[in-house]
Amino acid sequence: MSDCVFCRIVRKEIPAQILLETEEVLAFKDINPVAPRHILLIPKKHISSVMDPQLPTSPQLTAELFSAIQQLMAEAKDGFRVVINRGAHAGESVPHLHLHLLSGRELAWPPG
Ligand code: 5GP
Ligand code: ZN
Repeated sequence: MSDCVFCRIVRKEIPAQILLETEEVLAFKDINPVAPRHILLIPKKHISSVMDPQLPTSPQLTAELFSAIQQLMAEAKDGFRVVINRGAHAGESVPHLHLHLLSGRELAWPPG
């Protein structure tokens, strides 16, 4: 059992505003939003990063992640961004794979 903060959210040991839960994934509001709508989408299983070798051989998980993106962003008619930060240069701070889903304002490109 992992002690990481997102595993604790999955186990409902710490509160979060949960928006979607399926067999393999959970989506909840980011505690420190950087856009009007800032959702975190995670595997419920502790997968430490996007570089984990089990990801390419986890078809149900990857299908549920993309299905969740489609459901969660269906109303984001003006567009949205999906981000995975990896490593120090990208500002990764939680060692449990998470996708940021950002919408509700214009998002600069290229990012800072
Ligand atoms: P990273 O910087 O690793 O890409 O993103 C981690 C994200 O997790 C940050 O946007 C941060 O605000 C969010 N976060 C960290 N701890 C918690 C928490 O306990 N609850 C929620 N809802 N979000 C968290
Ligand atoms: Zn975890």
